[in-house]
Amino acid sequence: MATIGFIGLGNMGLPMAQNLVKSGHTVSGFDLSEYATERLAVGGGRRATSVGDACSEADAVITMLPAGEQVREIYLGGEGVLASVLDGTLLIDCSTIDVETAREVAQAAQGSGLAMIDAPVSGGVAGAQAASLTFMAGGAEEAFARARPILEHMGKTIVHAGGAGNGQAAKICNNMILGASMIVVCEAFLLAEKLGLDAQRLFDISSKSSGQCWSMTNYCPVPGPVPTSPANRDYKPGFTAAMMLKDLRLAQDAARATRAVTPMGAGAAAVYERFVESGGGSVDFSGIIRYLRGA
Ligand code: NAD
Repeated sequence: MATIGFIGLGNMGLPMAQNLVKSGHTVSGFDLSEYATERLAVGGGRRATSVGDACSEADAVITMLPAGEQVREIYLGGEGVLASVLDGTLLIDCSTIDVETAREVAQAAQGSGLAMIDAPVSGGVAGAQAASLTFMAGGAEEAFARARPILEHMGKTIVHAGGAGNGQAAKICNNMILGASMIVVCEAFLLAEKLGLDAQRLFDISSKSSGQCWSMTNYCPVPGPVPTSPANRDYKPGFTAAMMLKDLRLAQDAARATRAVTPMGAGAAAVYERFVESGGGSVDFSGIIRYLRGA
């Protein structure tokens, strides 16, 4: 079993770190929030007092931070990860961040002789708690092979997406599909309502027809057809609209940087922006149906 430094013990990071502890790893966790490090310690982890402390004896360091800004600071800062780890420590960033920062940090790690992968996740807090996350990893084959046995204690599906930054690329492309498809599924149910077509009937037909997609069959935005979807619990998240907007903005930044043409992705980002501005940020992203109903 490995000694792992874990930085960023928030909604996702804490249950992920707790699963590593349960699997027998020694986990030294650091977060700006003392409450978070205390929670880790209660479950058998070790409370680190700084980034350097979390890294000092680690075979691997995992980060789960809000955005690229924090990832850059934590890895490249004066007393950050690159300055603190032992030779040979494996670096794994699981945060969702922009592709450019992921590649920049991976290159800096390589310059320090360290192997690194970006490994953002899908599956949300429930997936983090149940150790059933999907990891999309970018980086060298050898680094991915070293990371896999660690990631297996936190997730069920672990996919190598290619070189550095490709995990982030996969994540933002996937979530651009998800955001756009959720909006159009909501629109279809609202149009059906106006046309006098019952929601359950539309579901029964569309879920078996060419309009079938994950947003409809697993996460249906109207109450009833899929009993486990957030629509049945007043759109309690789940995955918040604010998180969806973050990922759609990352996709748009990447599209601008690469001159990719993404009118649907741009439209989805604009609609989620208006929903979040209208106060929907902490609602599940499928709750955008309420905004569309009123807009
Ligand atoms: P969160 O805000 O709950 O957790 C982030 C943690 O990082 C916080 O505890 C914060 O105190 C800590 N932190 C911030 N700056 C720090 C610093 N300089 N040093 C140490 N700790 C610091 O966020 P989350 O929901 O756990 O999400 C983490 C990442 O996972 C994000 O990039 C998010 O986009 C991604 N993600 C989240 C979900 C989800 O459903 N929540 C799903 C998939 C991916």
